[in-house]
Amino acid sequence: MPSSRPLASAAPKRLTVEDLTAPMSGHCTCCEHMLAAVTVSGRPLCLTCAPAFALDEPGIDDVATLIWLPHLDQGALGRCVTALHVAAKAAGHTVYDQGLSGEALSAKRAFEALLSCRLGALEKIGTDRPSLYRSALKSLSRNPFPEAHETGLRILMRGKWFPDNPRRYLDAAQEWAVSR
Ligand SMILES: [Zn+2]
Repeated sequence: MPSSRPLASAAPKRLTVEDLTAPMSGHCTCCEHMLAAVTVSGRPLCLTCAPAFALDEPGIDDVATLIWLPHLDQGALGRCVTALHVAAKAAGHTVYDQGLSGEALSAKRAFEALLSCRLGALEKIGTDRPSLYRSALKSLSRNPFPEAHETGLRILMRGKWFPDNPRRYLDAAQEWAVSR
């Protein structure tokens, strides 16, 4: 089973997103749930999980946030987050909208509970911004930190894609959900 490592440590390689050139066929190597749509350092990933690995991508702090969630690995979190964004989108909303009801409201509440785990990241490492965590790791000549998967740090996909195409995430999640 592929490892579910959310945050690569101080690798010299720049961790950014590249679109898959071949047609989508294989599943994400992190959540093993959605189809892979991009790669980061050659690893095929879905759009929910990619931000957990693409820590050098411009705009990462708008797309994802660090949370402290030791009881779920990154892949399980990815499956949950996909379901929440899809549930809200199916009702014509996002998890940020007000006045929701039914499944969309349940999804919003569950997402907000995950988002509140930012406080744990702030408490443990002093930031909830993936970019700051990444730059701190890169500034160390020897990395004294344990690998992130050995800690409770996870990356939560906020529900929008990077600045070149912010709607890409929700559109792709809905398309994936409808096709199942
Ligand atoms: Zn995934």
